[in-house]
Amino acid sequence: MTAFRQIRPLRINETSPTEVEIDWSDGPRTRHSYRRLRYQCQCATCREEMTGRELISMDDVPEDIHPLRIVPVGAYAIQFLWSDQHSTGIYSFEMLRKLAEVTLDEQPKET
Ligand SMILES: [Zn+2]
Repeated sequence: MTAFRQIRPLRINETSPTEVEIDWSDGPRTRHSYRRLRYQCQCATCREEMTGRELISMDDVPEDIHPLRIVPVGAYAIQFLWSDQHSTGIYSFEMLRKLAEVTLDEQPKET
């Protein structure tokens, strides 16, 4: 668990109007759709704190959602300032790795 904290994004590539790709310091590249990322927001407005129950649905997320800004938060997370004015969600590196829809790491990393 402690070791995981040392994994960080090297590059955040806004590859398309709907997706972002993140290159990680331990090798893989993950791809995330903005719409899913916004839906997966873990803040108190979007998730019930005790149960983790979702308080928004995918239908609540605009089709054209995209980040106005992507801001690093300390050494552990990224904050997206979304085009629907929602910005309270903090996405930890660990969570981003877990939520990735596609992990592009076919090339085994040689050590
Ligand atoms: Zn939220």
